[in-house]
Amino acid sequence: MNFSFTEEQQSFRRSVRGFVEKEVLPAAREIDEQAKFPKELFAKCAENGYFGLRYPETIDGMGADFLTYCLMIEEIARGSLSLAAAVAMQSLMGTDLVYRFGTDEHRERLVKPALMGKKIGTIAMTEPDFGSDLGSITTTAKRNQGGWIISGRKMWITSATIADFFTVAAKTNLDAGFKGIDLFLVEKNMPGLKVGRQIDKLGVRGSETSELILDDVKVPSDNLLGEEGTGFKNLGEILAEIRIMTGALGLGLAQASLDSSIKYANERIQFRKPIGAFQAISHKIANMGTRLEAARGLVYKAAWNIDQGNSDMQLASMAKLFATEAANTIADECTRIFGSYGFAMEYEAQRYFRDARFLLYGGGTSEILRTIIAREMGVPKQRGK
Ligand SMILES: Cc1cc2nc3c(=O)[nH]c(=O)nc-3n(C[C@H](O)[C@H](O)[C@H](O)COP(=O)(O)OP(=O)(O)OC[C@H]3O[C@@H](n4cnc5c(N)ncnc54)[C@H](O)[C@@H]3O)c2cc1C
Repeated sequence: MNFSFTEEQQSFRRSVRGFVEKEVLPAAREIDEQAKFPKELFAKCAENGYFGLRYPETIDGMGADFLTYCLMIEEIARGSLSLAAAVAMQSLMGTDLVYRFGTDEHRERLVKPALMGKKIGTIAMTEPDFGSDLGSITTTAKRNQGGWIISGRKMWITSATIADFFTVAAKTNLDAGFKGIDLFLVEKNMPGLKVGRQIDKLGVRGSETSELILDDVKVPSDNLLGEEGTGFKNLGEILAEIRIMTGALGLGLAQASLDSSIKYANERIQFRKPIGAFQAISHKIANMGTRLEAARGLVYKAAWNIDQGNSDMQLASMAKLFATEAANTIADECTRIFGSYGFAMEYEAQRYFRDARFLLYGGGTSEILRTIIAREMGVPKQRGK
């Protein structure tokens, strides 16, 4: 057993941390207040090679392992969860399925430029009426003259306002549940595709999220990503990574909340003492730190496991569940340590508290994850097993 990072992992983490401290932290408040996609910082992330970090060199990526990728996501999330969410979309969900299941032409024309920040990719699964219940989505894809016609409505689509291409989940067979889902590549200028209203959100306000309308969008047959009937299975190839990455977002947010809490606990004087001198506060800090370290253990182990070639859904789900719940608890405790100032917009505590909520939904809600974990553990017992 080896709990240490390689020299390469440590030095990459230091370089991301340096970038975050110099460029992201000073801009984080403005990103949140303006609720606008942080274009310049996003471009700098591209320049730094972050979008291609976990992709192989054959597609101009950096060929890093998944653990290194998680360290990068954690560090960016420490600076701004809005930026980190946009980076995660671009470097994983928004590009990976086109990379894996698209054609060489798609990889050249869309994925390669996306890894350089010249095009933006996103994923469109969720619908107004179906989120967790993905098997029931009603967006349809019907064969038509050698291609497909897609119709439906999507909701909560990250970066839709600025995206050049979308991986869209649609039903090719309405009666087949998950097996009837397929993934399609849809491009910005295709007739019938419209970005609907932008959602005014509680947190991660700099990561724009919108409705997407597909009104008889015609796509060529090559835009079916993978064999017909395999969309859900193909999504499953990166689902463990999505969950672990979301856990890593939680680590960064939790670290930011803890750092602020420690600083404030040592600065704020009540009863002629720093509030950190009161056991009630120092024990909060101890609990926050302990919870964060436990979350790190799970996320890093799950990421390491991916690098060993094991996509363990139970461990990935545990990592996402524990780290995102920990981030919420830690951000909550942070606002308590700040007292009324935790309620004031002029301090960062409120942003951590608001942003942390985002972590609870994407990649599976905590309720769904518990169901998955229990099922993997054999509860309830499957008939015939
Ligand atoms: C900021 C943000 C960005 C997002 N970006 C994207 C994106 O880019 N692309 C995309 O496709 N989606 C995106 N999503 C959507 C996200 O993936 C969904 O919100 C998520 O899947 C949950 O779906 P829902 O909100 O419809 O909740 P529901 O599925 O309606 O769930 C509501 C509640 O019921 C619970 N619940 C539901 N079913 C069960 C069950 N079987 N057992 C127990 N409890 C249950 C849930 O846990 C939850 O508490 C984004 C969401 C947010 C907030």
